[in-house]
Amino acid sequence: MKFIRTAALLIAAFTLLCAALTSCDITVPDETTGTTYVSPVITSPTPETIAPLDPITDGETTVPDETVTETTAEITTEGTTAPPVTESETTTKAIENPLGFKVDLSAYEKYMDPADKDAYLILVNPSNPVGKDYKPTDLEPLVDTRSDRSKRYMRLYAAMSLEAFLKEARANGCKNVTVTSAYRSYDSQKEIFDGDVEKLMKKGYSKEEAIAIERKDTAYPGESEHQTGLAVDMHNMSSAQQAFANTYEAQWLAENCWKFGFILRYMPDKEDITTYVYEPWHFRYVGRYHAQRIYELHMCLEEYIEYLENNP
Ligand SMILES: [Zn+2]
Repeated sequence: MKFIRTAALLIAAFTLLCAALTSCDITVPDETTGTTYVSPVITSPTPETIAPLDPITDGETTVPDETVTETTAEITTEGTTAPPVTESETTTKAIENPLGFKVDLSAYEKYMDPADKDAYLILVNPSNPVGKDYKPTDLEPLVDTRSDRSKRYMRLYAAMSLEAFLKEARANGCKNVTVTSAYRSYDSQKEIFDGDVEKLMKKGYSKEEAIAIERKDTAYPGESEHQTGLAVDMHNMSSAQQAFANTYEAQWLAENCWKFGFILRYMPDKEDITTYVYEPWHFRYVGRYHAQRIYELHMCLEEYIEYLENNP
């Protein structure tokens, strides 16, 4: 019995050590360049490595086999070295392409990571509306819009960064993601909103009820981020649906958007703060400096603006 206890303790200690090791930054070999990309510090928990420790409630219980195997496998992967490249080659590539892009996006770098890093932090929501006449002066047509839609526009830096985002997304297997909406004027937002309210009223809702319901899905004119020219909707479905969240494409976009200066604006666990339902298709340009911080802090823009005010 004593031996079993000792063995169990040893295994528990080993598992804890492994969990500690695997929760550190993992270096993943880059298939294309042979260079390595060190993943940024992510604050989200890693349940696979933490959860299996729970079974050790008494000295008699041993850690399930698969836990040990799983953890060992991860360490083995971590220990694997990338194909040999000369030191100078690695250094040069790492400097030019620190985020491990598969496509050469160097021409887009100044847009994705703007020199004026605070220029794109405008917060627009029901509590912070923009006026009826608010219209950005640097709107540019998007190269990559869905063929069955009319031309879409975004502000220059957002438009260029989006181009880079979509190029890299395609290189990573998101072949059919396309833009369905970008800049919307006050009037076009009003048209969408009023049209939907009318449809709800035809279903029997009063005007007040219809407006209240619609506000959860669609921004009230003047309260839409799309009016800033910094927001974009993109997906690979016939229309924007939450089911998009379950696709590989949505997951890739959400995990990588910050590299291109974008954030997933309406997250599932932030609905109470943003007042909008989860929109896996809606991305907002803020520039990489802030996008990376927002991603790592797992904050919505409302929380982040407040965070900046409290941590100047
Ligand atoms: Zn949108």
